[in-house]
Amino acid sequence: MANPALEEIRGKIEKSARLADRKTSDIVLIAVSKTRSGDEIRPLLAAGHRVFGENRVQEAAGKWPALKADYPDIQLHMIGQLQSNKAAEAVALFDYIHSMDRPSLIKALAKEMDLQQRRLPCFLQVNIGEEPQKGGCDIKAVPELLEQARDGGIKVVGLMAVPPDGTNATPYFALLAKLARDNGLDGLSMGMSGDFEKAIKLGATHIRVGTALFGERVPHSV
Ligand SMILES: *Cc1c(COP(=O)(O)O)cnc(C)c1O
Repeated sequence: MANPALEEIRGKIEKSARLADRKTSDIVLIAVSKTRSGDEIRPLLAAGHRVFGENRVQEAAGKWPALKADYPDIQLHMIGQLQSNKAAEAVALFDYIHSMDRPSLIKALAKEMDLQQRRLPCFLQVNIGEEPQKGGCDIKAVPELLEQARDGGIKVVGLMAVPPDGTNATPYFALLAKLARDNGLDGLSMGMSGDFEKAIKLGATHIRVGTALFGERVPHSV
């Protein structure tokens, strides 16, 4: 069954890709379903969408097993800050991790991937706006963290970032793209409801869209 919001976003992705002379198939739409119930998610599944993002392990563990039982080909992306003591659960539940950002977490993920024999592709999250309260590594730490992750057997597919709120995201997207290029990485997880078209123009391979697909989130449960 067609879903109007999904159709609209897909149309915008196609248009942005065409303008940037890129292939639509090179851009993955991650439907960010944090705070949404299974009943809110099911219409997107019925419309054929299979790629979703969550920012909390506990919340995801509560709602996705039932949905996966009905749709086994769901692909789940962890996009939120991850505590090392949740690494085991995250590796078991998710298919991708976007929020790898520090030595202790890399170590915990590498250990769990070994134990579970599940090698999830990961993005290294960069604190691109150098904001103290945000997740992500320092820009200058990128090379050493990539090396640590690879030494631990982790497959690093790209960089991820969330630019500062209320600013023009373009220079941050451009900087993340340059950092990825300089480090030989193809994947770029960037762009949300308000700026995914800009992100696509600057090379995003994974856009993370919540509000534009599901409507506004209730403020307290972000
Ligand atoms: C919530 C969230 C998104 C989606 O944001 P919207 O503005 O609702 O599209 C994307 N990325 C991360 C890391 C998020 O936490």
